[in-house]
Amino acid sequence: MVTITTVETLQEAAANGGQGTAFLGGGTLLMRGVNYGDQDVSHIVRLRQPQSLAGVSLEGERVRLGACATMATILRSTDVAFLHAVARAVGGPAIRNMATVGGNVYAPHPYGDLAVALLALDAKLRMSDGSEMEMERLLATRDTETRLIESVSAVRPSGDDFRFLKVTRVKPRGASVLSIAAWLPRRAGRISGARIAFGAMAPTPVRAPTVEAALEGASLDQNGIDRALQSVANDLNPPDDSLASGWYRKEVAPVHLKRLLLGQGTR
Ligand SMILES: Cc1cc2nc3c(=O)[nH]c(=O)nc-3n(C[C@H](O)[C@H](O)[C@H](O)COP(=O)(O)OP(=O)(O)OC[C@H]3O[C@@H](n4cnc5c(N)ncnc54)[C@H](O)[C@@H]3O)c2cc1C
Repeated sequence: MVTITTVETLQEAAANGGQGTAFLGGGTLLMRGVNYGDQDVSHIVRLRQPQSLAGVSLEGERVRLGACATMATILRSTDVAFLHAVARAVGGPAIRNMATVGGNVYAPHPYGDLAVALLALDAKLRMSDGSEMEMERLLATRDTETRLIESVSAVRPSGDDFRFLKVTRVKPRGASVLSIAAWLPRRAGRISGARIAFGAMAPTPVRAPTVEAALEGASLDQNGIDRALQSVANDLNPPDDSLASGWYRKEVAPVHLKRLLLGQGTR
């Protein structure tokens, strides 16, 4: 049997954590699991007013998304227009109305499309205990029992500095064969400090450090990106699943990265 506790604050929710307890975001994955008999979850903790953590606010050159903001919230906000294509790539309309930012960060392979974009945009998480942590670190540790995500802060890219591409087998919106997000700041036409993230290429979204290094100082044209395309395989160790084999994912990754970098992909 699953028990449900309703609390007022995220801190209370975190204090209720422990073995078998899960925090309820939009419930698109959690409730599906429970309804299908997931025995790992025996206790669900939810907020009485999740909309109190669903804001989108500008903070200088960054933007902060509340953990309970949904994909639909993102699509309604012109402040995060650069994330609209990403939010639109998550499930169908019913899923987007419920799926939250916090839940997407914890979504298992092959999900987590928004998390891929946030990882490329240098995301930092504010946790329920007031601490800040790099999203990259959370993805590596998956610490869910003692701290919850309160909000996520990410860079607000300018112009066409941010690009996102998702490859699916089911159109218009299926789970990812792979997804790629790229933040490509440029100085005098040369890439400076690029962040490239891949989805469905590992158990969680991952950055591609060799690709990023190969892009440093390069121009965004065929010659400039050649070295980066050749190094993609060094950064990826994709799993097999029912959508694609790891071999296939690795083979097609440079093709899609090229399209994205040359501006031929879906933004
Ligand atoms: C039919 C279908 C299609 C889907 N398509 C896609 C897709 O195309 N792309 C994609 O990325 N995903 C997809 N998903 C997966 C899912 O809907 C999204 O990833 C969604 O963002 C998960 O968020 P949620 O709020 O529903 O999470 P929940 O189901 O509420 O929670 C998921 C996990 O995250 C934890 N969690 C939630 N919020 C927090 C928080 N604030 N702090 C700490 N832990 C937290 C929960 O405890 C749970 O372990 C799909 C799901 C379904 C059912």
